Amino acid sequence: MSITIDPHRKVKPIPDTGLPEPVREVKPAPDRWRNSLGKYRVKRYEELCIKCGKCAEVCPNGVHVMPEGYAGFKRPLESKCTAAICKENGTFCVDVCPQKALRVEVLPLYESLGDYRWSADLILSTWYMAETGEVPDGELNYKTGNSGGGFDKIDFVFPEGGKRTDPNEINTSIPLNRREDGRPKITIDLPIYGGGMSFGSVSPVTILSKARAATAWNLFTCTGEGGYIERLVPYKDHVITQVATGLFGVREETIRRAPIVEFKYAQGAKPGLGGHLLGDKNTPAVAAMRGAMPGTSLFSPFPFHSVYSIEDHKKHIDWIRHVNPNALVSAKVSTPVDVDMVAVGSFFAGANIVHLDGSYGGTGAAPEIAKKNIAMPIEYAIPKVSRFLVEEGIRDQVTLIVSGGVRTAYDVAKAIALGADGVVIGTPELVALGCIRCGRCESGRGCARGIATTDPEMVKKMDIEWGTQRLINMLHAWRTQIVDILSRFGMSDISELRGRTDLLKHQDYE
Ligand code: SF4
Ligand code: SF4
Repeated sequence: MSITIDPHRKVKPIPDTGLPEPVREVKPAPDRWRNSLGKYRVKRYEELCIKCGKCAEVCPNGVHVMPEGYAGFKRPLESKCTAAICKENGTFCVDVCPQKALRVEVLPLYESLGDYRWSADLILSTWYMAETGEVPDGELNYKTGNSGGGFDKIDFVFPEGGKRTDPNEINTSIPLNRREDGRPKITIDLPIYGGGMSFGSVSPVTILSKARAATAWNLFTCTGEGGYIERLVPYKDHVITQVATGLFGVREETIRRAPIVEFKYAQGAKPGLGGHLLGDKNTPAVAAMRGAMPGTSLFSPFPFHSVYSIEDHKKHIDWIRHVNPNALVSAKVSTPVDVDMVAVGSFFAGANIVHLDGSYGGTGAAPEIAKKNIAMPIEYAIPKVSRFLVEEGIRDQVTLIVSGGVRTAYDVAKAIALGADGVVIGTPELVALGCIRCGRCESGRGCARGIATTDPEMVKKMDIEWGTQRLINMLHAWRTQIVDILSRFGMSDISELRGRTDLLKHQDYE
């Protein structure tokens, strides 16, 4: 399943939206700011430069541009610079300049960008993938962060010289309903879908971009707990509706239209704390959707006060089944020490998908202390749960989806090798849309990038079609990497990777 573009294809408009049908094709979606941020600063000393053009000749990335008819160079397109590779390959412009008129150095902003988990390299490489749909060339580390633990300490052990599978023959789709319960056998084309981001926490443009990209890739996105905005209806076949403790915007009609209903029992970024939408973000539109007063802070309590046992959980699932007999049910839980018992209980209560949400996920709206210190990291929870499901003889009847700190295509593959069927992502989507990880998501006007905001002016900073394309492109680059991993192992189906911990090694225990 590669992306092919038929030049004669006609893209149909979606009625009443003014938007074309989202299509699974890679198209350039450049940064939306005037000066793109990259790893290097490229400085040309104009007083020394004799405009010989040697730098433009040698530069593999078109950083030095002298437009036709002009006598001088444009400002260097420094965000495209890959100086480390140039030094290795002998294409370093600084070395070929006869006048010593160029200086290339690491940009101070690069050094201050990101954190240990989401390093500057991960942010910039995700932007690159979202812009081009391609896998980065190696200048940036796009596989791991610098956390010193978790997925960053786990490597694949690829066979040397083994037979590779033809990438065109590799299947990356997974089924979401493995039970024989008469409900639809839904499959998605990648082992990935988009996590819940509620109307209120992020802008409608972010929500719609996610839904359109999910439609193009035959995946899902999730409403989160802020209700089902009307503009999502054209994409309803790819939208999971969430029922969370606040029951904000939960209505029978939204449950009836959903192919999957997700009960959010807890969130790995803040287990035991529930949710909190600050009053600033509760605009009149958000309040109308949630049936609340504008400007007031909205709390989602923890836990569901009607659920204290698996039997209570079953009543929840039965309620959904009564309203929509065709909906699959997903139970999203965090990762306490007895998470394996919780997962098995969810299965016996009737869930089709058990969604484990570990620590480290969440946006700037989740308290740092909670994100990093309460729930079990997903890397530990996955094998624990998967093993217990096997022991109980039900592993192949449950779809085990995991989230919480999945940042890269390599994290996806590692999660599957540890025992998951697929993953849910959130932050990578925001980064693809231009998030700089500033952690200001919770305040109304706070997101300078117009992603996690409900402020009507800030929302205009992003365009839906641009956002859709960025996400389509990133998923394409991720699929390329996942296919490459499977190919190197001689596998032809993503399911062959599930639970293959023997293909992994921990860097500290060679
Ligand atoms: S270092 Fe390489 S990529 Fe950067 S501007 Fe010079 S030639 Fe271009
Ligand atoms: S740019 Fe900052 S405020 Fe906006 S989504 Fe990213 S972390 Fe949150």
